Amino acid sequence: MATAFFLGERGETDVVLVEQSWLGSGTTKGGLGGIRHQFVDELDVRLSQVATEFWRDFESFTSSAHDFEQNGYLFVAETADGMAALRAPMPLYERLGVEVEMVGPQRIARLVPGIRTDDLKGGRFGARDGYGVPVDALAGFAAAAALEGVRLVEHVRVDALITENGRVIGARTNDGEIRADRVLLATGAWTAPLAATAGVRVPIWPYRRSIMEAAGPFPKLASIPLVIEWESGLHFRPKGAAQRFAMPNLTADGAIEKGPAAPPPSFDAPALDSADVPPQFESWVKARGARRMEPFAHLKITDRWSCNYEMTPDEHPIVGAVPGTPGLYIAAGFSGHGFMHTPATAQLIVEELLDGKATTLDIADLSIERFRTGRRPFTTTVL
Ligand SMILES: Cc1cc2nc3c(=O)[nH]c(=O)nc-3n(C[C@H](O)[C@H](O)[C@H](O)COP(=O)(O)OP(=O)(O)OC[C@H]3O[C@@H](n4cnc5c(N)ncnc54)[C@H](O)[C@@H]3O)c2cc1C
Repeated sequence: MATAFFLGERGETDVVLVEQSWLGSGTTKGGLGGIRHQFVDELDVRLSQVATEFWRDFESFTSSAHDFEQNGYLFVAETADGMAALRAPMPLYERLGVEVEMVGPQRIARLVPGIRTDDLKGGRFGARDGYGVPVDALAGFAAAAALEGVRLVEHVRVDALITENGRVIGARTNDGEIRADRVLLATGAWTAPLAATAGVRVPIWPYRRSIMEAAGPFPKLASIPLVIEWESGLHFRPKGAAQRFAMPNLTADGAIEKGPAAPPPSFDAPALDSADVPPQFESWVKARGARRMEPFAHLKITDRWSCNYEMTPDEHPIVGAVPGTPGLYIAAGFSGHGFMHTPATAQLIVEELLDGKATTLDIADLSIERFRTGRRPFTTTVL
């Protein structure tokens, strides 16, 4: 949707966006909305810098409101190893001019009223980070793109790409064919089977993660940073008077699993319907929450959902033209951090689509080519 918006901005209005269900029905509806600069790879930090500039001025760019709260991201660590991991990228942040600081228990207690700090070694705080609302942002991009003249079609599924002499020249849908000079797959966890119809192997697969909400109210926590326990993976952030919690997965023996151990043998698309949250997750969140925060001593979970991360083997997206298949582009596989980078990746893929090369940032490392050559330019970053 953001790509459609930026195409419209560039005056390209002969654009059609095809959505198999309703806009936002994929991973976007399920996200926590975190927006952070605190990555370990330079390109991720730079994407966050470009994106955050846009998030801050979303309303003036799209004429729609988006509740971007720049209240920061706070990682807290209980162990010396955790502190060492948090400290490791500090020189990168300094070099790129990102406002991130190592913080001690006293500062943590001031940032988050009611947090338990006696078991903490310290943490890392990024004041320029924050959180937004993915479906609101999507609606803003959609409204602006529609006004620019982009055509949005819901409840139509692309069944296959149409190729001619190795070039992608359109898409076959359950409502007829669409011919196009260029086709962008921004199809999240559903990308692999669709790309396969043009003979392109895309290593993206779904990986379930869950979120819970406690209605509160938590009056003193309405503008706290998004907090992440480094060791356990518990996240929480305010959403109005409520608090939202994201958590790692739990294995059958109760161990924490932050990401998939390895890619699956085949890359399949998920079902469209949503899955239940495993019941043991609620007791885990309640216990972890009560342990960390005095206001969470008696949490009442009022909502919960599971949704799919769209994983790639190096937990980084595939963004760019597909070498060897002219006419085909991909922006998918954001591996659990696609919302925050949306305005950046959308602008960059538009530069590739219209100018032949992204210029705002060099995104050659995000090309699908890395999975063909075995080159691994990134560190894995699932939280
Ligand atoms: C629990 C959870 C927490 C998260 N937290 C964060 C966070 O804090 N910060 C962050 O930045 N990110 C977060 N994410 C990740 C983020 O939500 C995703 O990276 C992002 O929403 C991906 O957007 P997308 O548009 O690429 O994919 P999607 O939202 O999945 O959109 C792809 C769309 O393509 C459509 N489609 C697919 N195939 C076809 C077809 N053949 N024909 C027509 N339409 C098709 C789908 O229906 C879908 O609507 C989280 C994700 C989850 C699950």
